[in-house]
Amino acid sequence: MLKRLNLQIEGIVQGVGFRPFVYSTARACGLSGWVLNNSRGVELEIEGPEKSLSKFLSQLQETPPPLSRIISVRQKETPLTGDNTFIIYESKELADRVPFISPDTDVCDDCLRELFDPSDRRYCYPFINCTNCGPRFTIIQDIPYDRDRTTMRAFTMCPECGREYHDPLDRRFHAQPIGCWKCGPSLMLLDKDGAEVRDPDPVLKTIELLAGGTIVAIKGLGGFHLAVDATSEEAVQRLRERKHREEKPFAIMVQDIEKAHQVCCISPSEEQILSSKLKPILLLEKRPGHGMAEAVAPGNRYFGIMLPYMPVHHLLLQGRFDALVMTSANITDEPITKDNHEALERLRGIADYFLTHNRDIHVRADDSILRTAAGKPSILRRSRGMVPLAIPLIEDGPDVLACGAELKNTVCFTKGIVAFLSQYIGDMENAETDRIFTESIHHLKNILEVSPEVIAYDLHPGYRATQYALDQKYARAVGVQHHFAHVAACLAEHGIDGPAIGVAFDGTGYGDDGNIWGSEFFTFDYSRYCRRAHFAYVALPGGDAAAREPYRMAVSYLYATFKEKLPGLRLPLLQKYADRVQPFMAMIDRGVNSPLTSSCGRLFDAVASLAGIRDVMSFEGQAPMELEMAIDAPHDLLYGYQVAAQTSGTDFIISFEPMITELVDDICSSKAASFISCRFHNTIAQVIADICGRLRQQEGINLVALSGGVFQNMYLLTRAVDLLRSKGFTVMTHEQVPTNDSGISLGQAVIARRACKALS
Ligand code: ZN
Ligand code: ZN
Ligand code: FE
Repeated sequence: MLKRLNLQIEGIVQGVGFRPFVYSTARACGLSGWVLNNSRGVELEIEGPEKSLSKFLSQLQETPPPLSRIISVRQKETPLTGDNTFIIYESKELADRVPFISPDTDVCDDCLRELFDPSDRRYCYPFINCTNCGPRFTIIQDIPYDRDRTTMRAFTMCPECGREYHDPLDRRFHAQPIGCWKCGPSLMLLDKDGAEVRDPDPVLKTIELLAGGTIVAIKGLGGFHLAVDATSEEAVQRLRERKHREEKPFAIMVQDIEKAHQVCCISPSEEQILSSKLKPILLLEKRPGHGMAEAVAPGNRYFGIMLPYMPVHHLLLQGRFDALVMTSANITDEPITKDNHEALERLRGIADYFLTHNRDIHVRADDSILRTAAGKPSILRRSRGMVPLAIPLIEDGPDVLACGAELKNTVCFTKGIVAFLSQYIGDMENAETDRIFTESIHHLKNILEVSPEVIAYDLHPGYRATQYALDQKYARAVGVQHHFAHVAACLAEHGIDGPAIGVAFDGTGYGDDGNIWGSEFFTFDYSRYCRRAHFAYVALPGGDAAAREPYRMAVSYLYATFKEKLPGLRLPLLQKYADRVQPFMAMIDRGVNSPLTSSCGRLFDAVASLAGIRDVMSFEGQAPMELEMAIDAPHDLLYGYQVAAQTSGTDFIISFEPMITELVDDICSSKAASFISCRFHNTIAQVIADICGRLRQQEGINLVALSGGVFQNMYLLTRAVDLLRSKGFTVMTHEQVPTNDSGISLGQAVIARRACKALS
């Protein structure tokens, strides 16, 4: 029985080898027909026996080209034409704009083979790529995606590259960044003043320099890295001093998975993530005798480790080094450096040499960072390799620009039934990031072809992103409460809406009552939320300073618990900060620079300080992270807490006075930090399950969304999820976007869309 089908495929299907794939699959199935690119994606017709057609369709679903992402397939039967060939049409419509762009991808196995094949014409060529791999997002200046609208425009293809580029059956057919030794980009080594170091082999020279303990800035896909030999204590320490980065861990790159196993303990699921096309930085537990310098990740249980993803990384790591530190080239918390002149300027005094090249990076993108919990990846930073992948939404609506929050910021655009999250932009409190924020918005608007009518923003009046939103002239501006956006983002990435119970635990978020929220239990859907429970408010003595100095929160919690008896406690912490205790108490009493907060992050800070782990932080989130890492012998004990049922407004207020009292007893009886930390974590997980249980009883809601920066804590997340599931809850956690403030913009976007729907 012969049949002819017409298929319209949408998604990332252009510039990824889709037409050659369709061609060879159709031929292999003995089908006739044609394929072409159009403005919506790829259109094709296939004709043949029904059995062969279904074989083709299953291969389309199961083994599409590696970089493609099929979002939808529309299929209809059309009359038979009786043709007996299969044709790839050069699409006239290629000039139409294509909405889906592929992210940057690591060098593929085929290219790697050629890279190390002495007989190949691209032997050791540091910019080898093909239709299945190489730079995309970071070099695209405009759409449609073709060479003239990328930073590859500067290079004219040689005849050989041209032949490959135009041959539909070549694996470099329409590979826009194609190039070779003769015609493509090239490396150059510069000294600290920008003068070229004349050497026949800049890669070998760089290896030599690195082996001698030198700091080299290396230009990558989305920006520069600063590299040093990770086994040299002296070199790594020098990098710390020059970068003014005291303790925050540096990422390292190792040659291959075998080397990674020598440095870290890696489970099979972690191995899969580490070696996936994304090539993220993955947080993995250090292996005893790992051989890395202590200064790489001082006092930390984990290494942030990644495998090479650019050809030049493979060339640099061949055999010589156990590992290289590869840290984003920036000055503390500033955006990653991307341009050559910018590198020479901003990295002056940090890098001794620059291994750079003449292919411009149009858009910055940091390395993505992941960790795993119970075998599942959890994204801490969503950037290189993940942007601009589309996130499918449950409903259509107006185009929205959501501006995000303040720290770890991203922005989000919606278009039709998908959302696009920007690359990691960073902490908005610094002027340079602010500029890149605006730049990224313009660029994404252009390449994604969105014209937002609606702008969404955080309610915090002091956030720069909020200021930006309020200065724009969109038809509508929608302010969204921070934690509402968190929990909505969690549902949105799973393609569901409420009603659900939302648990948003994080550091800081502007609350509707003007206080700083951060331990919120909501019942909610995209259109509304109701605050049902939270931790009892405590003072933040010193405001922002309290977020950097955990001992302030320790004093605040002690004071809330013990009141005037506080000075009588015999705690090491109170002795250490004896001169600060009375002034803090006075500040809290008078309400001077002591805003109220329900922040869960600050409770973690307080406990980290009480347990003797960290009194002052040198980077954001350090105290809670170290508190989690302190757990080395898990147990199931709990501390006490009280739940006060309210007669009006919020239903439940959770007080930790019993916990602080017992915790002080533990300290006084010299219990280990590991014991205290575990007992504390268990208590927080228990509170989550307890409150969700009470809310389910009242509302009959069985769906729980967990979101907010606190859930970067894998011990807490795993335990809370297990507890909730054992009670029969359906639990949603973040998998596609970060649970920290990088995920906020997605939540803002879906909420703003719904708000507009309600108004129209
Ligand atoms: Zn390739
Ligand atoms: Zn060439
Ligand atoms: Fe947050």
